Amino acid sequence: MKFILAFALACCFSTGDGTVYVCDSPNSVAFHYKRDCHGLNNCKHEVKKTTVSEAEKLGLRLCGLED
Ligand SMILES: [Zn+2]
Repeated sequence: MKFILAFALACCFSTGDGTVYVCDSPNSVAFHYKRDCHGLNNCKHEVKKTTVSEAEKLGLRLCGLED
């Protein structure tokens, strides 16, 4: 049981492929875990669904409005 848990954690931390949302704007600097985040309410462009690893490749950081 411990082994399985450790494996699952290692898997998810290394890939970081949780689903996140980004504003498809050239000015966007953050990605968001929540689609209804305040940071996305200001988005005048399309809100795209992506993964943490893809967002980080684009140079985006986790939104400061979320925990
Ligand atoms: Zn946010």
